[in-house]
Amino acid sequence: MADSPTLPTEHDVEQILRGVIDPELHGDIVDLGMFRGADISDDGAVTVRIALTISSCPLRVEIRDEVESKVRGLPGVTSVKVDYSEMDSAQRTELMQKVRWKARESAPETEVPLTTRIIAVASGKGGVGKSSITVNLAVALARRGFTVGVLDADIWGFSVPRMLGVTGRLGGADGKIHPNELEIPRADADEGAAGRLKVISTGFLVDEEDSALMWRGLMLSKALEQFLVDVRWGDMDYLLVDMPPGTGDVQMALGRLLPRTEVVVVTTPNRAAQKVAARVANMAQRSYLKVLGVIENMTAFECDHGGRYLLFGEGGGRELAEQIDVPLLAQVPLDPALSSGSDAGTPLVMDDPAAPASQAIQAVADRIVDELLPPLEMAGCTARMFEAIEQARPPTAGAPSETPLAEPRSR
Ligand code: ADP
Repeated sequence: MADSPTLPTEHDVEQILRGVIDPELHGDIVDLGMFRGADISDDGAVTVRIALTISSCPLRVEIRDEVESKVRGLPGVTSVKVDYSEMDSAQRTELMQKVRWKARESAPETEVPLTTRIIAVASGKGGVGKSSITVNLAVALARRGFTVGVLDADIWGFSVPRMLGVTGRLGGADGKIHPNELEIPRADADEGAAGRLKVISTGFLVDEEDSALMWRGLMLSKALEQFLVDVRWGDMDYLLVDMPPGTGDVQMALGRLLPRTEVVVVTTPNRAAQKVAARVANMAQRSYLKVLGVIENMTAFECDHGGRYLLFGEGGGRELAEQIDVPLLAQVPLDPALSSGSDAGTPLVMDDPAAPASQAIQAVADRIVDELLPPLEMAGCTARMFEAIEQARPPTAGAPSETPLAEPRSR
């Protein structure tokens, strides 16, 4: 009589399941902590326990099929069953840190300094004021004396050059593109050097605003990569990225290239805008980008006689912030001067800092600097040490805690 084949052990099952890759998380299910063990009965029936990030995970069926087919290939296995459970929030956080860390390790080198804080300004749809907020927020930060990069990644609908009144072709040297620069006087004129803006936009590369429409999806993420890898950004405290509206290639590319990016979601107060903005926030989280907060724009129109008109409804920003559990950073009122300032190339925050819309945006800048994302200084030895550790760390060092990259700098 032939010997019955030796049954696989739990370790064998674990090893074979290293071949099952979660395509979204870019890792194998063992490494990601999704494999939770296997029971092997004497008759060769195997039950594999898999923890999903969420029980309604869209990849549930794909993962099951892969697990079944891999385990069925082991000698002695007669049947395979997959038992799912759902991760609790602590397990999800741990997984997310691991994935961010992996992404950070495998991200290509960019020219963006390690100490630069990166904020992507995103929206569900066009026309909610995402570019206006980006530009005014950048100016508000520069008015505190910071050097701020503005990367106009809204490649189809770029408007940053016009809004900042910056024109001209980009310069280049040593094989790198140089951003256009703009000095911004400080709000407190006698306290230190002026702020600077460093601006990059496809608007500096094409002749007509319309010709940018010819760029296609694949080129969009490539363009973003080029702007991050081939632009000599130099020292920079903050980099604000004006994202194209909606979800898609550019957001994914940013998650891959600069996984430390944090996202600010801009929405208008009405429910329809809030719904599409929620999709953007969801996509950001799925790309493992942290959402810093929500800015509600065009909140209300306040007329000179004290009347307050809710032209675009109300409550959408707060509801979205609560829904995704992040702070509502500001409610920026409708102000025709904000619009005309954008058209004239003089952002309202610079032209009329006392206007309520300017004040609301300035308050976001202050909160970012003082609380949410304080600037980092490379001169500090903590940052140097961090850089050395970052370079020397072995790939399997596991998930680090989300410690700040360096000492906050006061200004
Ligand atoms: P997006 O980048 O989301 O497409 P924009 O920043 O280009 O949006 O803004 C769309 C239009 O709305 C522009 O004409 C802009 O000047 C105007 N706008 C944006 N925010 C405000 C505001 N708070 N008050 C008045 N007009 C605004």
